[in-house]
Amino acid sequence: MPKFVYDFIEGNRELTDLLGGKGANLAEMTRLGLPVPPGFTVTTVACRAYLAAGAPPAGMFDEVNRHLRGIEARLGKRLGDRHDPLLLAVRSGARYSMPGMMETVLDIGLTDTTVHGLAAQSGDDRFAWDSYRRLVQMFGRTVFGVPDELFTAELETVKRTAGVTADSALDADDLRALVEAYQKVFHQHTGRDFPQSPHEQLDLAIRAVFESWNAERAVLYRRQERIPAELGTAVNVMAMVFGNRGPDSGTGVAFTRDPATGARGVYGDYLANAQGEDVVSGVRNTVPLQELERIDPRSFHRLMTIMDTLEHHYRDLCDVEFTIERGTLWMLQTRVGKRTAEAAFVIAAQLVDEGVIDLDEALDRVTGAQLGQLMFPRFDPASAPTPLAVGVPAAPGAAVGRVVFDSEAAVAAAGRGERVILVRRETNPDDLPGMIAAAGILTSRGGKTSHAAVVARGMGRTCVCGAEALTVDTAAGQLTVADGTGAAPTVLHAGDLISIDGATGAVYAGAVPVHPSPVLRYIEGELAPEADPLVSAVHRLLGHADVVRRLAVRANADTAADAHRARAFGAAGIGLCRTEHMFLGDRRELVERLILAETDADREAALAALRPLQRQDFEALLAETDGQPVTIRLLDPPLHEFLPALDELTARVARAEALGEDPGHDGQLLAAVRRMHEANPMLGLRGVRLGLMVPGLFATQVRAIAEATVARLRAGGDPRPQIMVPLVGAVQELEAVRDQAEALLADFDGLPPIPVGTMIEVPRAALTASAIAEVADFFSFGTNDLTQLGWGFSRDDVEGVFFGRYLELGIFPVSPFESIDTAGIGRLVQIAVADARATRPDLEIGVCGEHGGDPDSVRFFHDAGFDYVSCSPYRVPLARLEAGRAAVRLAHRSDTR
Ligand code: PEP
Ligand code: MG
Repeated sequence: MPKFVYDFIEGNRELTDLLGGKGANLAEMTRLGLPVPPGFTVTTVACRAYLAAGAPPAGMFDEVNRHLRGIEARLGKRLGDRHDPLLLAVRSGARYSMPGMMETVLDIGLTDTTVHGLAAQSGDDRFAWDSYRRLVQMFGRTVFGVPDELFTAELETVKRTAGVTADSALDADDLRALVEAYQKVFHQHTGRDFPQSPHEQLDLAIRAVFESWNAERAVLYRRQERIPAELGTAVNVMAMVFGNRGPDSGTGVAFTRDPATGARGVYGDYLANAQGEDVVSGVRNTVPLQELERIDPRSFHRLMTIMDTLEHHYRDLCDVEFTIERGTLWMLQTRVGKRTAEAAFVIAAQLVDEGVIDLDEALDRVTGAQLGQLMFPRFDPASAPTPLAVGVPAAPGAAVGRVVFDSEAAVAAAGRGERVILVRRETNPDDLPGMIAAAGILTSRGGKTSHAAVVARGMGRTCVCGAEALTVDTAAGQLTVADGTGAAPTVLHAGDLISIDGATGAVYAGAVPVHPSPVLRYIEGELAPEADPLVSAVHRLLGHADVVRRLAVRANADTAADAHRARAFGAAGIGLCRTEHMFLGDRRELVERLILAETDADREAALAALRPLQRQDFEALLAETDGQPVTIRLLDPPLHEFLPALDELTARVARAEALGEDPGHDGQLLAAVRRMHEANPMLGLRGVRLGLMVPGLFATQVRAIAEATVARLRAGGDPRPQIMVPLVGAVQELEAVRDQAEALLADFDGLPPIPVGTMIEVPRAALTASAIAEVADFFSFGTNDLTQLGWGFSRDDVEGVFFGRYLELGIFPVSPFESIDTAGIGRLVQIAVADARATRPDLEIGVCGEHGGDPDSVRFFHDAGFDYVSCSPYRVPLARLEAGRAAVRLAHRSDTR
């Protein structure tokens, strides 16, 4: 039988799969001899068994009881003892941190009897009743789903009766009355009495934590963070320590470096005379950790020493939760801390300088997604007006949007394509959908470690917290800002524009102009690497990625301007030039002539008119890419895409006819559109099929490429074009186009060899890759179409229609159009690569679908043995970084999710 329960002295930090992050790290701290209250962890294996069977696995509670007896023996206290009761905290702890998403129950063990024991033993009636009311509320909410508002209403009544406004002003009698009122609420809502058996409380709390894994908000968070749904959570049971035992007690959260900027030094928040949940939920405002030095210097210095030990031990930024009970410091949690993208880069570079890690490991600790975030714009301080208020800068970025006051409104507005800022007094886990939908989050309460801050940082949303000058009135839909001078306050309503600066904490009325990020300016060559610590860190890590990566990174670019930017961003050429744009704009008329041509002569004339224009385009592109490969794809979409839409044209012709006018050219066009109309254009006359059906079309493009190459050579350049055939499903299609192209190219003197290759984007092409490789000089995987055709998902339709449901059902964790579906479409890719390389070991292989710029997919293409990925110019830097990370992949990946 597996072991379902581990004492903290049995585990270690390697066991995160089994013990969850919190459990494994509590065990690690225990091993390091740090002051951790005794406790044990019920494993994720037990959770999975519980969730599968709807009941705890056989023997699990026996083990729990055995370990509980161990704690009792160590502390000399017993759960349920009427004189000196042991109290327990029960907390969730999954493999990946999911802040605030799952449940916690504190003060387990208090009953109508033991509360007196606690009062007598502590000599503090008020403390005992305060703890008991917290238990009834937390247990009621967590285990039985009693709505919090019911408890809050009772609290308000008791405060009114007592004539006080702060909870802390309630005395023991008030709190006793409150416990009675809470127990009534509990009974009314659940139909049963509040459990008076501490063991039953523990049993039910453990089950509730298991079940909270599947709570709606946890499911949503996992989907957002791409955390697998099947992992389950561990449950940590530990002896309670109390931060609410008076002014010499308290609780706090601390980081070994600033998690927002990476700056060195210890950062954190402290709240005297409070329990941990009060800090994280942001309901009470904290003081900076430095204040603790004044309040309790001994504990402060002990904490500093411990944080130093932890940072050396974990070789990374750590965060901790701690509690001080009457001057004694206890560590309740540590982990390699979450951080902003900026801090991730800065800290990784610092640790290299400090000799703690090498550049490979530093590269492993940052991600392409983070680099992508850093390329977002920021406000320019010079152009920003006077702020309305300044709060805590909790997650970076510059966000401008319309004010919304609740999660539903944020989701609805985002659905309409509007950018919104979610404004709340404080957030709680129920606000998650709105936080995902919003461009930024602004709260009037709470610090850097409040729920809003932690979640926003994790999601890469801009966030300003604790802007206390704001009064948020959700019911009235308004935000009032007093400037403290006694002048009339500024009032903003839902729908008004607001700007928040996650780097400074500034809140501005109206839309403040945004400026490019320094990282973007550096990448564009406008800022020197030494401009600031962040730019310098990006420079070093990106530079290292370039040294170690095996994958080349090219860009998808159709214009000279895109090609120029791509090169500046570090692209090693153009992996895909979609020539269709050259058929649009003021050239539409020429395309219409081609489509409407009734004789060979008409068609040839139309093509002859298009050719010089195409040649100019290619020349411009080649001029930006001397010495680099430029993959030019022959025309892909169906021709009718270049004509007006059928319904629009039908209406125009009908209108003309109704007025007795001659529809003229429109009439001809309508006939052509009808003739070419397809029920499934994506599966119709496009790509190579079009090239084989419209004589002279591909030949015109090939000639234009050859002419542009010759012209570029004459101008002293070094053009390296490649010709790519789209939508090939059979080797014979490619052969036909290739033969024709080679014959044409042979007419040009002095032309360098121009490789002719193919997209692999039809599943049949992937499955017949060995034959196709005989005829192709290169393969470029079109994973957009390969996904469309492999799954049978219309690219243009399905994402908005049913992908939401599919994600909810866990059919896939992320849209297969965003990140490659490795099991299915990826399998097609692997088969094609293996078969093709068996035929032609030196075949050049790349990808030019959207996946070429997706961090997870880049890793897949590296593993699959690709030569390059090609992506939009703005994603080139992150693809470079990810290609480097794939190359240095470390055995023990640090995980800061
Ligand atoms: C593809 O299908 O992945 C591709 C790159 O081509 P397009 O997106 O132009 O169809
Ligand atoms: Mg395609």
